[in-house]
Amino acid sequence: MGFILTSADYVAYLNRVGRRIHENGDYISGLDAATGDGDHWANMNLGFESLEAIGGELSALPIDAAFRRIGMVMMSKIGGSSGLLYGSAYMAASRVCAGREALDAEGLCAALEAMVKDMMARGKAEPGMKTMIDSLYPAVEAFKKGLAAGEDEKAILTAVKRAALDGAEATRAMEAVKGRATYQTNKGVGHLDPGAVTMSWQLEALCDSCIEK
Ligand code: ADP
Ligand code: MG
Repeated sequence: MGFILTSADYVAYLNRVGRRIHENGDYISGLDAATGDGDHWANMNLGFESLEAIGGELSALPIDAAFRRIGMVMMSKIGGSSGLLYGSAYMAASRVCAGREALDAEGLCAALEAMVKDMMARGKAEPGMKTMIDSLYPAVEAFKKGLAAGEDEKAILTAVKRAALDGAEATRAMEAVKGRATYQTNKGVGHLDPGAVTMSWQLEALCDSCIEK
């Protein structure tokens, strides 16, 4: 039997990564100050604090409705490019999970795939452009590959996590094609993309939460 991720589990995961974001304000703000306008941490932190405040409400919803509500909160509270991208991505995840109470590994993979497709379409971005997609895209690819090969879930989730973290690290060497880092004379080369780092923390915490189930 594999894991089943309920809305209550998802809320526990959101609180877990929200805490990590909350505790790393100087680090994330510093990354965005180097290549952008310095607000990425404040944006994300406000979003996750707002989600924590409605954790009880979210836990009581089926997963599709929880994703829709999370998307609405992220869109209205995070602001900036990331607010729009995360908000819209969670709405897309909600649509692909329509009618589901909770998610198994296949369901979670489908939700993450819907998110990355939506983000790429909305942000007109592809992997290699030094954005959060550089963490999410390889994670989804690893997830699909692991499921297709029939690997055990712990191995799959470990590979997904690794792909997300490696993907974020790879943004250091990239020249920005999207986002504010394109305004830098060197296109941000030598600096990590803040959105990719916060994305990788979310995927890491999500995988760890599923592994622990
Ligand atoms: P803003 O850039 O509007 O200040 P944030 O600081 O909250 O918004 O988020 C910046 C992050 O958003 C970047 O680090 C990058 O990962 C991501 N990003 C920016 N533009 C795009 C895009 N077009 N597609 C995907 N991600 C993007
Ligand atoms: Mg910013």
